[in-house]
Parts: sequence; C-alpha cells; structure tokens
Amino acid sequence: MASNLTVNGSRLWETILVSASIGKGPRGGLRRLTLTDEDRQMRDQLKHWAQDGGYRLSIDRLGNMFLRREGSEPSLPPVLIGSHLDTQWAGGRFDGVLGVLAGLEVLRTLDDLNLQTRRAIEVVNWTNEEGARFSPPMLCSLAWSGQASEEWVNDRIDKDGVRFADALARIGYRGEAPVGGRTVDAYFELHIEQGPKLDETKIPVGIVIGGFPSYGARVAIQGETAHAGPTPMAKRSNALIGAAMVAVAVNDIGWAHAADDAKATAARLDLVPNLPGILSEYAQLFVDMRAPDVNRLARMKEEFLAALPGCAERSRTQISVAEEWGFGVFDFDAELIALLRDTARRLGIPTMDLRSQAGHDAYHMAKCAPACMIFTPCKDGITHNEAEDIVLEETLPGVNLLLNAAVARANR
Ligand SMILES: [Zn+2]
Repeated sequence: MASNLTVNGSRLWETILVSASIGKGPRGGLRRLTLTDEDRQMRDQLKHWAQDGGYRLSIDRLGNMFLRREGSEPSLPPVLIGSHLDTQWAGGRFDGVLGVLAGLEVLRTLDDLNLQTRRAIEVVNWTNEEGARFSPPMLCSLAWSGQASEEWVNDRIDKDGVRFADALARIGYRGEAPVGGRTVDAYFELHIEQGPKLDETKIPVGIVIGGFPSYGARVAIQGETAHAGPTPMAKRSNALIGAAMVAVAVNDIGWAHAADDAKATAARLDLVPNLPGILSEYAQLFVDMRAPDVNRLARMKEEFLAALPGCAERSRTQISVAEEWGFGVFDFDAELIALLRDTARRLGIPTMDLRSQAGHDAYHMAKCAPACMIFTPCKDGITHNEAEDIVLEETLPGVNLLLNAAVARANR
C-alpha cells in the first residue's frame, strides 16, 4: 500500500463550487437551512455523486446519509468520515461542506488509485448540524450516537411550528436505515477552524485535541406589564430592562476573562409582549460562555450567578436560571490523535494542537466511537457569515492528512 497518497485538489474544488451554487445567499455565501428545498437539492446532488462513484447510499430514518466504499472485509466496522451540508441562515460555503466533500474526495482518490482498504470507508452527511432551524444543533448525530430518541428528534419544531418529522418527509429524505446501533471503527471529521489561529500562524493543520468547555443558560426574567407612559419609574418592573442588565453583566464577564481566550455573551432574547408603549412582563435570555479550561469556566459561571441578584434589584424584576447546559469537556481519542500526528510528520505537514471552540458532530460521535478532528484554515477566522473563505492550497494538506490517516486506520 502506498504510503503518501494525495487527493485531486481541482476535483475537490469543483465539487465545492457545485455545492456553493445550491442555496446561494445574497452576499456570496449559502442559505441552505436543513430540510428545505435547497437542502433537498444538495442531498440530490450528493446522491448523484454516490451513484456516479458506485458508493452504496443508505439513508436512515432521520435523513442522515451514508456513502459506503466497500472494503475487502465487509463485516468489519467501517471508518466513518463526516460533517454536514446544511448551513446557517447567512452561512458560508465551507462550514461543514468541506468535511463531507473532503470525505467524498477520499473515496474518489482511492478509486483513482484502484486501492481497496480492509475496512469499508463511509462518508456521512449529518442532518441539522447547524441548529439554525431545529434546536439543538448536531441534532441527528446526537440521536445516532444514542443520546436522544428518534421520537424526541421527530418532535422538534421550528419557529413556524413545523415538526422535524414533517419537514424531513416533505423533502423525501426519511430513509429506512435504523438510526445508529452499529459499530464504527473510527470517526474522522475535517472542518474549517472557525477561528483565526491557523490563518494567523500560517500553519495548515490543526489537530483538535478536544472541546472548549462551554456553559449555557436560559435566564427567565419576570416583570409586570404596564403602560410605558404614566407608570412612575419607581413602580416599573420591566422584564426587558432586567434582561438587558443581565446581558451587559455577561458581556463584562467575557471581557474580564478575554486575555485568557475565554468568551461570554448573551445570544438570544425573547420578550412578552414585546410591544411599543408596554413594559414587558416576561423575558428569556440565552447566555453562552466558553473557556479553555473547566476551572476558568467555573469561575465565570460563579460570577454570572452572583450578578443576577443585583440585576434583579436594579430592574425590580425576578430573575432566575430556568435551564442550564454544558458541553465540550472531553478529549478526542488519544490513539487517533497520535495517528494524525504521526501521519502529518510522515507527510511533512506542520500542525498545531487546538481545542474546538464550536460544537461539532464529532463531539457526539466521540461518545459512541473513537473520534478525531482535523482543522483547516479559514480566512481571518470568519465563519457563520457569507464572507467565510478558504484558500485551496492551504486546505489540501489537511485533506491529504485525512486521506492518509483514514486509509491507515481502514487497513488496520
Ligand atoms: Zn460546521
């Protein structure tokens, strides 16, 4: 077996351009929300590529799509390479897309070289990674890895009240394969960094050693509706004002820890009744905090909780944490990380270790299989924005690393 394989960069770029033409955003990016007509078109395209390559396509009951290139020992658990083809409302052309299409390029390169691996290699397109339509993000890898039931996923609703199950059926991608329940030998995900470190240092590959500890909370603020005109200041209990004070406090915590690469923000605000001339009766605010280590995050969380009584007092509202969650506290598989490092060294590709600051399907897959991630540079770290951009030459080292490492693993 050859030890230094390379993908066909121009073919990879062509497939990326085809993807970039499906669900174009108004400013050069993509608006391809999950389970929309645009998503269906992109899925049709992937299906077409699967047929062209002779890869067996299976679609599970949540619409996750698997393209399988058979190995010489079909009964062995496959190596899985994946990411997502859905995008944010104003998304870029590469977030998720690159990972799926790099996987496809791995299969095609093996065809070019007429190489059969021992284990099958499968490429997966996960449904609803972004969470831009159905909450939470990484919804279907969550279920696939056994951490949520199909029923629960099917009952998620979007902001227009459409059920996940109905949206999936409407585009014709409710498959018949069971959701998960089979063994995977290893999961690889290549993704743009979505941060500036690789671009700044001109190091082409980030080996993702684990997640960035993250804390989220939904804060409930209870006020009382009243007329915005005659109600005296001393009698006002405006939930909007309480929420605003919490938002500012959270932002201040982010700044206080910014030097250590920690972040905090208020990401979403819902108000009732949210009308001009009326003081709001109820508000909910979503808080998002991330830090490089759990101790730092614990301190930020303490500061956040300590700030709430003051915000409540000043705004004359009642403020409580209605829901909390956390993720990102884990390391990827040590053996796969070592494989990535050794392979990169052999190929002469410089790498740096990074922790992922965004959530990825690989986080969930790490719960049911050995998993790892490769980051590639994106311009100025811009992402979840139509201006998101990459340079092919800076991306190919990561794709070649994916190819060689996945093949090594599949021949194990
Ligand atoms: Zn992504």
